[in-house]
Amino acid sequence: MRPVAEILRETGGLLEGHFLLSSGRHSDSYLQLAAPFQHPDTAAELATGLAARVRARGIRPATILGPALGAILPGYELARALGVRFVFCERAEDRRFALRRGFTFAADEPVIICENTLTTGGSALEALALARAEGARVVGVAVYCDRLEDPSTVFDVPYMALERFALRSWAAKDCLLCRAGSVPVKPGSRPVGGLPNR
Ligand code: ZN
Repeated sequence: MRPVAEILRETGGLLEGHFLLSSGRHSDSYLQLAAPFQHPDTAAELATGLAARVRARGIRPATILGPALGAILPGYELARALGVRFVFCERAEDRRFALRRGFTFAADEPVIICENTLTTGGSALEALALARAEGARVVGVAVYCDRLEDPSTVFDVPYMALERFALRSWAAKDCLLCRAGSVPVKPGSRPVGGLPNR
């Protein structure tokens, strides 16, 4: 497959500039993984790549679990590429993840947690805890793109990422881009998308 960074750049999934992140930090780049999943053929290309990572580890899930909303399409496409079932969890009234809509796991069912992108891994960890509480056996975490420094310290199951990005960020007072005189923008304040340039 083509380089993931190339696919992301041409679909607006990898933005480069000067960004104010939701954490308050400033960054020179931003991952917007909803962007490539606008395009079914691009989504399938990425999912085929991630499915190959799963197969290469010899991991055979029965079901993919993706946290709503962001991981519904990415998780569904991974499930399609692996030929398995997909379910999603969503936040209930108490803001905790829950399985709704009649979704269940069989006892000891092998499940992979899928996310489109990880920054801290927090929501993937919550989904992992939910799957275990619902009786599943979590056999891996599969992610399209991450910017984690060291995923081995985050998860206690095999971790697979299609692409890893070492994106730079700074506390606002230390931002090199601010010092150079530019002003940060919130990601999403500029439109992304349109047709891939192919
Ligand atoms: Zn800045």
